[in-house]
Amino acid sequence: MDLKTKIRRVPEFKGVVFWDITPLLKDRHSFKDCVKKLSDHFRNMDVDVVVSNEARGFIVGAPVAHELGVGFVPIRKKGKLPPRVASLDYKKEYESDTIEIREDAIEHGDRILLIDDLLATGGTAKANARLVERLGGKVVAMGFLVELGYLHGREYLADKYDVYSLINCKSTEVQDMCEGTCSGPSVKKGKAN
Ligand code: AMP
Repeated sequence: MDLKTKIRRVPEFKGVVFWDITPLLKDRHSFKDCVKKLSDHFRNMDVDVVVSNEARGFIVGAPVAHELGVGFVPIRKKGKLPPRVASLDYKKEYESDTIEIREDAIEHGDRILLIDDLLATGGTAKANARLVERLGGKVVAMGFLVELGYLHGREYLADKYDVYSLINCKSTEVQDMCEGTCSGPSVKKGKAN
């Protein structure tokens, strides 16, 4: 299945080339295929909990947790969760944010899989990881539908985490999207990206 044809390139939205995943979500075969492929990649990693952030992360993270048969923990924007919460301020490609997680949501030593729709600069993923680690969780891997290779989020994450994505955009042009195994400066050798 050609998943990359289901990602819509919007030349300018919020000041950046924006990659819209809604056509992929709308297509039941592509959505199912994505959830299955992501889940299959992490199936043997002994994950305890999937953690995702509001809002597009939930759309991908919750079905992956369901498929893996593990629990799901949401990271939300400031003020959405009842106390007590742990919070963190961070910057992303086009805005700043404060995120929060329930303080009791992660058990010390829990093996965490972070799932989001898209890896851009890596700021969100790093912030999510720091929040989870602060509560004693161990981030065993991160998974994304789309990775913007040209923003080098993988390097920003400093090779500290196992990063897996289904579709890689190597430039802002549609013809430079690839799926499955592909190579490029920001892609680790041997990874299916
Ligand atoms: P970052 O923290 O820069 O890695 O940004 C990741 C988050 O911002 C993801 O949750 C995406 O939903 C969103 N995002 C950032 N840049 C883009 C983009 N160019 N197209 C679509 N979504 C984006």
